[in-house]
Amino acid sequence: MTRVALIAHDDEKPEMIDLVRTYESLLSEFDLVGTGTTGQRISDETDLEIERKQSGPLGGDMQIGGEVAQDEIDAVVFLRDPHTAQPHEPDITALLRICDVHDVPLATTRTSAEYVLDGVAADSADD
Ligand code: PGA
Repeated sequence: MTRVALIAHDDEKPEMIDLVRTYESLLSEFDLVGTGTTGQRISDETDLEIERKQSGPLGGDMQIGGEVAQDEIDAVVFLRDPHTAQPHEPDITALLRICDVHDVPLATTRTSAEYVLDGVAADSADD
């Protein structure tokens, strides 16, 4: 099953909720995993089921990076706050790197997220 990771920095969480609502019927066909707070908000504010890892600052990005390294993730939507440095920046950089290593598509903005989700949907329809 297609597995997609969803992560959003605090400033971007409203955008993530809006995105997943727009894509709710597509995302309901996927296996979803998210960092702790993002995942909590998605499960509270939509009907989607999502596996929750640790919160980002407590290692959630690294846990998702571990799944990418095991080829368990098909795409990552990581809505990053481009204006605020995060205390767990090294973990975020590691996640971006491991996605590059494994050629896992990773979107960091709303529009790129829509393109990636549309692409993953087209790919999963081909399977
Ligand atoms: P959070 O983590 O969903 O637990 O807030 C996101 C992050 O900052 O990586």
